[in-house]
Amino acid sequence: MLTGQTAIVTGSTSGIGLGIAEKLAAKGANVVVNSYSDKTEDHAIAAGIASRHGVEAVYVKADMAKPDECRDLVEQAAVRFGRLDILVNNAGIQHVAAVEDFPVERWNAIIAINLSSAFHTIAAAVPHMKAAGYGRIVNIASAHGLRASPYKAAYVSAKHGVVGLTKTVALELAGKGVTCNAVCPGFVLTPLVETQIADRAKETGLDRETVIREIILEKQPSKQFATVEEIAAATAFLASKDAAQITGTTLSVDGGWTAQ
Ligand code: NAD
Repeated sequence: MLTGQTAIVTGSTSGIGLGIAEKLAAKGANVVVNSYSDKTEDHAIAAGIASRHGVEAVYVKADMAKPDECRDLVEQAAVRFGRLDILVNNAGIQHVAAVEDFPVERWNAIIAINLSSAFHTIAAAVPHMKAAGYGRIVNIASAHGLRASPYKAAYVSAKHGVVGLTKTVALELAGKGVTCNAVCPGFVLTPLVETQIADRAKETGLDRETVIREIILEKQPSKQFATVEEIAAATAFLASKDAAQITGTTLSVDGGWTAQ
């Protein structure tokens, strides 16, 4: 159980991040829910988590594309709860294009949100965790942190970078009670993947089910999506005291993709 601990989950108003926030709260952690939009619904998501699980949950707006806001998110959480035990770097976006056509603005945004944000939040969180002699950092990378696919230059580069960052931080903190690991999901049916399905259906003229079976899940041997709950469970395990000697590693939840 994580009773009394404080967890930050970046990008947690939707998809995998929301599932992780919900799971950590179910285990007793107080959670900081984050996105960049600051809508009434965002605050309602935090309120819902708090009331369902009997914990404190607050929404903090921070744009993970902006270094100062990444760092400020961590400081706000530490001030609000007086401790910081768990940091989950989950915020991420995708764009699919051939490398020669890849918009520079999309490359910059993906590197900023999917990779650099984790550097900034970790840099801000580590002093708190070191001082406490305890911390759990979990980065949501991807099967694309371990394998490439065409037309995803920025995403594959960022996610490989996240795996490298994970290993480096783990080495720097080894023996100090602070671990750093990455979860590498295969395809999970979230809004991020729904967009890819719709785009591929439009391009190919195939129906949704055919696109899922023959294009999206082509590399995933199980031919099944991983679920948000499965990614959340893997994250909660790495965030637990039981995972004390697991650091600098990747945990694939990908239906066999990276066994190939
Ligand atoms: P999603 O689109 O459902 O959720 C992304 C979340 O990130 C949202 O809450 C959004 O508000 C937030 N976000 C986006 N830009 C942000 C910004 N600038 N600042 C703050 N928050 C921002 O996507 P998802 O599928 O749940 O993806 C979550 C993570 O899991 C991402 O890092 C993604 O790369 C990774 N992942 C997803 C899959 C998959 O198949 N869905 C597979 C492997 C890895």
